[in-house]
Amino acid sequence: MNYCLVKRTDWGLPLQKVFKPLCIANKTDMAVNNRNQLMPCCYIDTPHYLEDSTLKKLVESSDISKHKSLEDIINSKEWVELYRVVHEASDTQDTKNVPWPCVDACSQEHRRAEWQK
Ligand code: SF4
Repeated sequence: MNYCLVKRTDWGLPLQKVFKPLCIANKTDMAVNNRNQLMPCCYIDTPHYLEDSTLKKLVESSDISKHKSLEDIINSKEWVELYRVVHEASDTQDTKNVPWPCVDACSQEHRRAEWQK
């Protein structure tokens, strides 16, 4: 008869996903991509994530050379709306109005260490 030892810690239930937006927790900085566009963080700067129409529109409206200041960009309707839905979802954990890349990037288990800093 063969026995296999399994550590008790291996039996734990999978951790529940939690939406923890790092941008509103001041756990990440804004970024400027190589197209001179201001972004709320660097996580979303991938071709796949920027297929999302909301984020694509936000980034395309954030060309630094077309604004007087960074405040102009951050106070634009695209940014205000993104932060509004992200704040709301952070409180309620209802992410239906949040762009999917944000949910994907800020619900990942490997980010737990960053949440606790
Ligand atoms: S992925 Fe979205 S929610 Fe997360 S830090 Fe970036 S902008 Fe904020």
